[in-house]
Amino acid sequence: MVPFGSGERIGFVVGLTAETTLRKVKAIRGVLDSHPSVTNKQMGLAFWMAEYYGTPLGIILRAMLPSFLSRVPKERVQLLDGSATELTSRQQRIVEFLEGKNGYSLDALRRKLGMGAIRSDLRSLVNNGVVKIKVEPPATPPVKTARIVKIHRWFEDLAELERLLGRAKRQFEAYQILASSGGNVELSHLVKQSGFSRGVVKELEKKGVVTIEEIEVDRDPFSDIPMSDKMKHTPTEDQATAIKTILELHKEGKGATALLHGVTGSGKTLVYVEVINKILEEGKGAIVLVPEISLTPQTVSRFRARFGDQVAVLHSALSEGERFDAWRQLKTGERSVAVGARSAVFAPVKNLGIIVVDEEHDATYKQNEAPRYQARDVAVVRAMREGAVCILGSATPSLESWHNREKGKFDYISLPDRVGGGSLPPVHTVDLRKELKNRKPGSGSSMVLSPVLKEAIGARIAKGEQTLLLLNRRGYSSFVQCLSCGGVENCTKCSISLTYHRNRGQMVCHHCGQSKKASAKCSSCSSSELSFKGVGTEQVERIVNETFPSIRVARMDVDTTSGKWSHQEILGRVERGEVDVLLGTQMISKGLDFPRVTLVGVINADVGMHLPDFRSSERTFQLLSQVAGRAGRGRLGGEVFIQTFLPEHYVLQSALKHDYIGFVRKEMSYRLNPTYPPLVRLINVVITSPDNECAADNIEMAIRFLAVASKRMSIADQVGVVGPAPCPIEKIQDRWRWHFLVRSASVSALNQLIGPLTKEFKTKGRDVRLIVDRDPSSLL
Ligand code: ADP
Ligand code: ZN
Ligand code: ZN
Repeated sequence: MVPFGSGERIGFVVGLTAETTLRKVKAIRGVLDSHPSVTNKQMGLAFWMAEYYGTPLGIILRAMLPSFLSRVPKERVQLLDGSATELTSRQQRIVEFLEGKNGYSLDALRRKLGMGAIRSDLRSLVNNGVVKIKVEPPATPPVKTARIVKIHRWFEDLAELERLLGRAKRQFEAYQILASSGGNVELSHLVKQSGFSRGVVKELEKKGVVTIEEIEVDRDPFSDIPMSDKMKHTPTEDQATAIKTILELHKEGKGATALLHGVTGSGKTLVYVEVINKILEEGKGAIVLVPEISLTPQTVSRFRARFGDQVAVLHSALSEGERFDAWRQLKTGERSVAVGARSAVFAPVKNLGIIVVDEEHDATYKQNEAPRYQARDVAVVRAMREGAVCILGSATPSLESWHNREKGKFDYISLPDRVGGGSLPPVHTVDLRKELKNRKPGSGSSMVLSPVLKEAIGARIAKGEQTLLLLNRRGYSSFVQCLSCGGVENCTKCSISLTYHRNRGQMVCHHCGQSKKASAKCSSCSSSELSFKGVGTEQVERIVNETFPSIRVARMDVDTTSGKWSHQEILGRVERGEVDVLLGTQMISKGLDFPRVTLVGVINADVGMHLPDFRSSERTFQLLSQVAGRAGRGRLGGEVFIQTFLPEHYVLQSALKHDYIGFVRKEMSYRLNPTYPPLVRLINVVITSPDNECAADNIEMAIRFLAVASKRMSIADQVGVVGPAPCPIEKIQDRWRWHFLVRSASVSALNQLIGPLTKEFKTKGRDVRLIVDRDPSSLL
C-alpha cells in the first residue's frame, strides 16, 4: 500500500534497487502480503508481455493474478473536526454532505453528488486538513466452511441409546446413519440426502450424543462430476508415437513447442492425458487450456478420471472465492494440473512441465481488451522460458502455427485417422441457388431446411438418432428492411443494423446490447410492409418445430446460455438422449463427443464468409470442419449437409473433402498479395472518440508519429502502414472508430515501435482513446 496523490493505492513490488535518481521518495505505508504473489519466472513473463504488447506492467499483473488480489482498494472519505477555512462552493457541498456521517465511500460519494470528478476538490480538502481519505485493503474472500456432525458419545448398547432418546425415532435413525458412516457426516448431507430435519440433529446435540463442528473446505464445484471411463484406452500406434515424441521433447528440457495436428475424433485428449501422466510422475505440473465454451464437465471429467484431485479447474463462471481456492491449491503445489480457459495460461503451477493448448486455432485465446494477449503465444513463450513443452492441438491449426511448423520453429506430430478405424463423415453441399430457383411459392422455409436436409433429419428421428444444426447467427432476423422506403433499422449508438429477436419482441444491437421494442411499422415512414432478412437461430428453431412438431429441440446460443451453467445443462440433456435436434451458433461446434449424433446440418455456411476481415475464410473453414467433425463419432457413422450459395468456393470445396492442407495452400497464397499474417505481423492502431473528426485527426497524427519514429530508428524500410480508414464498424457505443495497420515481416521492428506508440504518442482533444492491438485477431 503506497501513498498516491490524495489517497493510497495497492502497488506491486517488482524489483529492488539500492539507489535512485528520484529526488523525493515516499515510504511504503503497509505490506499486504508477505509472500510474493508471483514467482520470478512469472515476473519475467510479465515483463516480456508488457514490452511485447505495449501494455503497462500493472495491467499485465492484474490479469495474471486472481481478481481479488488486485482489486482496487476502497477509499473512505472522513470529515475531520476543526473549522474549515475558505472553501470553494464545490468543496462546501462535499463537506456538507459528509457532515454527521461516519465516513463515506469515495465512489459512492462521487455518484451521490453527481458533480463529476471530485478528486482534485478532495485533494485540497485533504491538504487543508478538512477531510482525510482512508484506504481499506480489499478483504480476502471468506474461506468456505462446512458443518460436520460428529458422534460425541458412542453407544455399544443401543438399548441404552433408545432409553436416552425416548420415543424420538428419527434421532435414533440419524445416529445409526452417523455410526455406519464412521461417526462423521456433513450436516447438509444428513438434511438433503437422508431427509433429517435440522431439529433432529440439534436435539441429538443437546443430548450430548453428537457435536456440530465448522470445518474449512475447499470450494470445488467440479468435484461432483462423475468420473469418465473414456480415458482408459490403450493408445493406438499413432497415439503412441505422438506420446513418445512429446516425451522426448520434454526430456530435452530446453523448452519446445509441437503442433499436434489430429483430425476430429483422432483421440488427441488421450495423448494429452498420457503425456501429462508421465510428466506428473516426474513431480512436475501441467496446464491444459481449452476454449472457454469447451470447459464443460465432459471435458473436465476426462482429466479428473485420470488425475482425480490433482486437477484444479479455473473457470470464469466460478465465484471469486472458488477461483481463489483453485489458484491457491496450484500455488502451494497441493494440485498440479490446471485446466482452464485463456487466463489459465498464468496458472501458478509449480515446476511446470507441459502446457497443452487444445483447439489452438480458437479465436477466444485472444483477449480483446487490455491486456490484449494471445494465450496460445503466451503459452509458447512461457514454456520456452520454463523449459517446458507446449503442445498446440487442433484438427484445423491456425495459419500462424502452420507457418511456424513450416519454418521449423515448431515440431509437427500428426494423427491422420480417427481412432478405431472410423472414417470422417461424408460431406454433401446443398446449392441454395438451385433451391431458390425451384422453391414453390409460399414455402419460404425450404431455404432454411432444404428438402434433402429435411429428409435426412426425418430419417434420424425415425431411428432415434440425434442431429446438430449450425447457423452462426443468433436472433430471428439479422435485419429488418422497410419495403416502401428501403430503410433499415440501425442502432442509434453503433453503425450496424438491429437484429430482430422474436421471442423477446425486441430489436437488439449485437454490439452494445441496446434494445428497443420491435414495432410492426417502419420507424421513418410508418409503412407496415416490413421485410425480415437474414435467418437467425430463433427462426430455425421455429421452422424445425413446425416441420417436426413432435420432436424435442434445444437451442444453444448466447441468448439461451446466459445462466451460469445453462450451457452445461443443455449439453447434459443431449448426452442423456433427451434432445433430438440441437441447433445453435458456433457454440455447438466445439469438442462435443456424442456418439448418437449421426447428422450435422449447416443451415447457411456463408454467414461470416464476407466479413471485411482477412481471416474470414479461415474462420469459416475451421467452423465447418469442426462442426462436421461432430458427426459420426460413434459406431453408427454419420453424414454432413452444408447449405451454401457458394458451393464452388475453395472453403467449401476443402471442407467437403476434409482437406486441411489443400485449404492452407490456397489460403496462404491469398495472404501473399496483399501480405497478411502469418507472412507478416500486424499491429492494429485504433483511435476512438465521440467526435468523428477528432478521431480522424488523431489517427493522422498517429501515422505521422509512427513515420518519424521509424525514421529515427532507421527501420522505416521495414514497416508498412495500411490506412488510415474508418474501422469496418465505424461507430460502437457512440464512439467513432478509425484505424490503421502497421505491417512488418520483422518482429523486432514492431518490438521497437510499440513502446513509443503506447508511451510517447499523445492524443489531442477531449475523450480520445488509443488502442494498440498487437497480433490482432479481429479487425472489425
Ligand atoms: P479429438 O479431440 O481428437 O477430436 P477425442 O480425444 O475426443 O478426439 O477422442 C475421440 C473419441 O475416441 C473419444 O470418445 C475417446 O474416448 C476415444 N478414444 C481415444 N483414444 C482411443 C483409443 N486409443 N482407443 C479407443 N478409443 C479411443
Ligand atoms: Zn419505411
Ligand atoms: Zn449498438
